[in-house]
Amino acid sequence: MSNSVHQTVIVGGGFNGLFTALHLAHQQYPRTVILIDKNERFCFKPLLYEYFDGEMESFQVVPRFEELLKGSGVIFVQDTVESIDLQQQEVKLTSGNSYNYSNLVLGLGSVTSYRNVEGASENGFPFWTQADAIAIDRHLRDCLYTALKTEDIEQRRKLLTVVIVGGGPSGVEMAATLGDFLPSWYSALRGNPDEVRVVLINHGQELLSGDVNSDLRETAEQELPKCKVPVELIKGAEVTAVRPDNVEYKHNDKAETLLTSTTIWTAGSSTHPLIQDLPIPKEHRDHRGRLTVTETLQLLDYPEVFAGGDCAVVQNSSFPATAQVAYQQGATIAHNLKALALGQELKSVKVNLRGTLLKLGLNKAAANLLDAFEIVGQPGHLIRQATYLTLLPTPIHDFKATTEWLDEEVFKNHVGSGDIGKKIVQAAELVGAGVVGVLAARKLIQILGSDGRNDET
Ligand SMILES: Cc1cc2nc3c(=O)[nH]c(=O)nc-3n(C[C@H](O)[C@H](O)[C@H](O)COP(=O)(O)OP(=O)(O)OC[C@H]3O[C@@H](n4cnc5c(N)ncnc54)[C@H](O)[C@@H]3O)c2cc1C
Repeated sequence: MSNSVHQTVIVGGGFNGLFTALHLAHQQYPRTVILIDKNERFCFKPLLYEYFDGEMESFQVVPRFEELLKGSGVIFVQDTVESIDLQQQEVKLTSGNSYNYSNLVLGLGSVTSYRNVEGASENGFPFWTQADAIAIDRHLRDCLYTALKTEDIEQRRKLLTVVIVGGGPSGVEMAATLGDFLPSWYSALRGNPDEVRVVLINHGQELLSGDVNSDLRETAEQELPKCKVPVELIKGAEVTAVRPDNVEYKHNDKAETLLTSTTIWTAGSSTHPLIQDLPIPKEHRDHRGRLTVTETLQLLDYPEVFAGGDCAVVQNSSFPATAQVAYQQGATIAHNLKALALGQELKSVKVNLRGTLLKLGLNKAAANLLDAFEIVGQPGHLIRQATYLTLLPTPIHDFKATTEWLDEEVFKNHVGSGDIGKKIVQAAELVGAGVVGVLAARKLIQILGSDGRNDET
C-alpha cells in the first residue's frame, strides 16, 4: 500500500508496541509512525480479571486505540499481520494491504500454548484477550442459568464446576476471582452458592513456580481456600485431555476424571507464530524461539528492526515476560528510534522491577514490594489498582479511569485505617504507583478516620 521509506511500522499494539508509539508521539519523532494491531482495542491484561467480573469498565481495561492515540499523529491500522519480510522491509496484512518500513518494531507478544494436550485448544477457554473474557462470561452465564433449571444433581454439579488448568499467576488470579465471584453470581440468580466448585490443577507441586510472583506462593496458598467458595488445589497433576464435559489428568500415577462443563486453560504461553517464522537462526533465539536482541533492543542481524516485550530476550539479561518489562522497553525503543533518525547515540535498556502484585479475589490482592514486605487483602488490592491505574496509557484516559476508581474505592468503600494507611503510601511509593497512586493512598488515610481498625490479613 505504502512505499514510503521514512516510516516506522510497529506491529502489535500491546504493552510494548503501544507504549513505543506513545513515547514516539510525546518526543516529536520526526518520521511517520504506523501502529498495526488486529484488535480495535488495547488490552490491559493485568486488569482483565476486573473487566471479566465487572469490577472495572471497558473504557478502563480495553480502551480503543483510536481514543488512546487521538491527537498523537500515530496512524492506527486495525488489521492482522500475515507475514513479515525482513529482506524486503515489508509487512503484509490479511486485508491484502502491505507496508514498507525504514524501521520496524516487533511487539507481537506471545500466544497461548496448549502443550499438545488432547482437546485443550478445542475445549479449553484461554484467558488472554477481551474476546476470551467475553466468551468465558457468556459460557458461565449459560452454565449457571442451565444449572438453575437442572434437577439432576450430577448434571448440575458438572455445570457448576469450573476447572482452571495451570497454577501460574494467571491461573491463581483466575481461580481466586472465580472463587469469590461465581458463588455471588449464582446466589444473585437464587441458586445455592455452596454447589459451586472451583478447582485449580497444577502440574508441579508448587504454585507460581519459576515466576516473578513465586515469593507470593505461600500467601496464594493461604488465600485461595479463603475465597467465598474455597478454591480446591490439585497439585502434581498432569492434564492429559480436555473434553466438553470433563478433564482427564494423571495424579500419583492414577488416571482421574473430573466432570466439568468449563475448563479454563492458563497453562503456558509460546512464541508468536510470526516470530517463529522469521528467518532468524536458532543461535539468535532463546530455547523458546524468542528473538535475541541487543541491549539497545535491535535484532542482531537486522539493526533497523527493534523487538521488545514477550517476543524478545535481551542479550546478557533475564527480564521476565511481564507488562512492566514490555512497557519500559517501549520507552527505550522509542528513544533509540529517535536517536537513529537524528544520528545520535543509542542507549541500553534499563528495567526497574519494583515488586509483584497478585489478585487474590474480589477486592483482595497481595503486593510484594522490593522483597521487603508484603501487603495482603484489601490494602493490597488498593495498591495493585492504584499502581495499574497510573499505568493506563495517555493522561486523559488515566485521569478518567482514576477518578472513577477513586470515587468507587476510596470515597464510597471505606476500609480500615491506622498503620496500614501509612503502609499503603509507603508501598505505593515503592512500587512506583506514581503521583496518582500515592495521592490516592494519602487520600485514603485522610478519609479513613482514626478508628484504628486494620484490615490487613
Ligand atoms: C490474563 C493475563 C494477566 C496478566 N497479568 C499480568 C500482571 O499482573 N503483571 C504483569 O506484569 N504482566 C501480566 N501479564 C503479562 C503481560 O500482559 C504481558 O507480559 C505483556 O502484555 C507483554 O506485552 P507485549 O507488548 O509483548 O504483548 P501484548 O501486550 O500481548 O501485545 C501483543 C499485541 O499484538 C497484537 N497482535 C498479535 N498478533 C497479531 C497479528 N498477527 N497482527 C496484528 N496484531 C497482532 C495483539 O492484538 C496485542 O495487542 C498478564 C498476561 C495475561 C494474559
